Amino acid sequence: MTLQPQTLPAADTASQHPSRRNADPKEIDKFSELAHRWWDPQSEFKPLHELNPLRLGWIDGIAGLAGKRVVDVGCGGGILSESMARLGATVRGIDLSSKALKVADLHSLESGVAVTYEEIAAEALAAREPASVDVVTCMEMLEHVPDPASIVQACATLVRPGGHVFFSTINRNLKAYLLAIVGAEYVLNMLPRGTHDYEKFIAPSELARFARQAGLDLVEMRGMTYNPLSQIYSLSRDTDVNYLMAFRRVAA
Ligand code: SAH
Repeated sequence: MTLQPQTLPAADTASQHPSRRNADPKEIDKFSELAHRWWDPQSEFKPLHELNPLRLGWIDGIAGLAGKRVVDVGCGGGILSESMARLGATVRGIDLSSKALKVADLHSLESGVAVTYEEIAAEALAAREPASVDVVTCMEMLEHVPDPASIVQACATLVRPGGHVFFSTINRNLKAYLLAIVGAEYVLNMLPRGTHDYEKFIAPSELARFARQAGLDLVEMRGMTYNPLSQIYSLSRDTDVNYLMAFRRVAA
């Protein structure tokens, strides 16, 4: 019997939809499977909970979140989205994992911190609502997508001229391989094995190039380091492994 195209499972055809083309269905499934544990501070998402105050303070210090319109791209269960809304920003979170978005939505109802969530690709939202927000954040997500430059371009299109765009991701070198994959996934068991793929890590120079091509100027760069002895994250000048970059859209 030959398999007719129309008998393909729905997930496969959905992944071919233009707005989903720049997404790896295996990556989305990985986050969907864990979604119910998103707000458990001792779960696989413990690192995100622990580093959230650091990145939040850094973003707020540069962009001044109170009263700002923000889109959080790849928001997952909403750890950063909610914390930005608590500081007075009007936040929209977007992701392609419907389970993560459902968890995010429920948590926002429970906590009473209003955030709007939508299942839409960054590229599709940018085409629908260009230059519509003051701040775009996209944390720990670029290293999970097939074409990160396209996400960077979408974030640049979404933000108004003069607005800020923030990214965080993982550098690509031997130290990052040893710490972010061998250390975090195999030695310390901080993250499930297979969370990260070395090939998808992004050097700061590459991210800076994607941003420059999208009309974004670099404002600031910081490393995020983890001390396994004290189990404390801190912002530092060491960008060898985890790092954050702040950009500003060139004013019109
Ligand atoms: N930004 C959040 C969550 C990081 S986990 C935080 O830092 O707290 C990575 C998230 O990226 C997951 O929720 C996953 O579903 C999402 N993701 C992966 N590929 C994506 C894509 N192509 N488009 C939108 N979201 C994506």
